[in-house]
Parts: sequence; C-alpha cells; structure tokens
Amino acid sequence: MCRLFSTGTPVMKMRLSASEVGVLPALAKAVKPTSHNVSIVPCPYCGMNGGEVRRSRDGELECCCAECGAVPVDADDLAAFMLDDHWLHRKLRAALDVQSDGGSATLTTSAWLLGQAGNTPVVLTRDIRRLWREPGLLDRVRTDNGLVHVIAPAHQIAAGVPTDAGVEWLALEERFRLRGDAISFLGARGTATTARRRNDSAAPVHGPFSADFRLVYLDGEASPPIRCTKAQSEVFRALWEFAGQDRRAEDVMRRTGRSSPKPIDLFKSNKERLRAYKTLVVTNQKEGLYRMPCAAR
Ligand SMILES: [Zn+2]
Repeated sequence: MCRLFSTGTPVMKMRLSASEVGVLPALAKAVKPTSHNVSIVPCPYCGMNGGEVRRSRDGELECCCAECGAVPVDADDLAAFMLDDHWLHRKLRAALDVQSDGGSATLTTSAWLLGQAGNTPVVLTRDIRRLWREPGLLDRVRTDNGLVHVIAPAHQIAAGVPTDAGVEWLALEERFRLRGDAISFLGARGTATTARRRNDSAAPVHGPFSADFRLVYLDGEASPPIRCTKAQSEVFRALWEFAGQDRRAEDVMRRTGRSSPKPIDLFKSNKERLRAYKTLVVTNQKEGLYRMPCAAR
C-alpha cells in the first residue's frame, strides 16, 4: 500500500509480489481495481521485458516480448490497482487524532494538509523533494513558528531530509501499522501530545508557575508559557511563599535579595512578563502592599 501511495499512479497486478496480492482482498476499501489503459505490460512469460500489447489475428490480446515473441495476455495480466487517497487520509487522521473539518486540503499535487493534531499541523506527501523545493508550502500551514509533522515514504526520509527545519518526519511504513481496515500510529507523537507529564519540569506545579517559577501559564491561554528571568522568578516565588497575604515591597524584595525598591520595577522591560505580573499580583498602592491571590491556601 505504501508503494501504491508512493507512486500515486495505478500499479499493475503483475508488478505486485505474491504477498502484496494476498492482502488485496483485506484492503478492498482502500485499493481499487482500476481500468488502466495499458499499452506496455511486463511479459507474462519471462517477466523481464516490457512488451507492447496488441490484438492477435484471432482477436486475443498478446504481449510482444523481445525475448519470447508474442505471449498471450489475459485480463488478469492487465489488472491494475490504485490506492484510494481519501481512504488513506481518513485513516491517518484517525490514527493521529487529527482534528479536521472538511477533510484534507491539497497543498500541491503530491502533498496534503490532513489537519491539526493538537496544535501541530500534519502534512502528508508522496514527494519530499517537491515539498522541499517549495518551502513556503510548510510555512503556510505552520502556526506560531511551531513544528509541522510531515508523513512521507520511508525511503525518501532515509535518503536525507533537513533536520533543523521545524519538521518532525514520520515515515509512513515505519511509524504506522495497517491492521484489517484500520491504521494505527506507533510510538510517541512527540510535541503534539497535549497532556503534560508529571515529571515535566516545565509543567505548572505551583499554581500557574513551573517548579522553578521561570514559566508562567496564565489561565485560559493556550499559548506557550511566559518565560521569566531569574530575578522575576524570585519575585514570584517570594509572593507565592507569602501565601496570598499582603506584604510590603521591602519584605518581598528582601526575600529575593534584589535591590529594586518595588517588585514591578523588575517587570517593566518586557510586555509579556509585565502582563503576567499584573494578572497575578494585586497591589495596594496607598499602603504599599503586595499580594498574589492565586497563592492563597
Ligand atoms: Zn518475455
């Protein structure tokens, strides 16, 4: 099936191995016989040479092999199969849990956007070089400079692909398994996994903060966490340890060992970090008190 996908054209039954022919009935929904109008077929006798197909004098089809001469050809010799691309797209979407409304979008004649797995676009291609000659194609589907998953034939990936291109390559034959009428995905989906692991040092463990207070996850935001400097993380840690109680600026700053008079001074240089600060820290200007409500326990 991967071979049928790679070529993208009908493949003659004669060109398939016995085991490949053996699985055809199980793939009846995916691999369809096609009326392939052939003029050259592999010689049914020697299997080596291609020969022109013509009608013999008594009306039968025959193949003109350079070695064997005219060899009779029957309908089965002319049978060809073609992969139903829509079937493959549907099964791959199911295997990767891809969200898609309205099916796949065609990027080029040999590449499709299957949809999004989590936040990661999933692209299927049968021709990596073509995809690569037009790099703008991937940028069109990329979100926030993030990763793109590209599914491609294994031998094309093995032949060499850029490793620093913001692409995770998934070899069709190696990372997916066909069983019955379903395709399953083998192995981790890497960054497309949305659940954070427990031992992940980036996961929020102190309220909205990572273990070292360097990452801030603001509520209701699907975007990446806001990354803080060491000094900023120390302010957040101090306020967290005050457990939502009001504290004077100098108490907070003493705990961080920094000399700024006010906590907010450390956040003013960066809009995102200032936003995190303002979202999480309540300031009582009049009395010069600071507290972080999310730290209350
Ligand atoms: Zn022959």
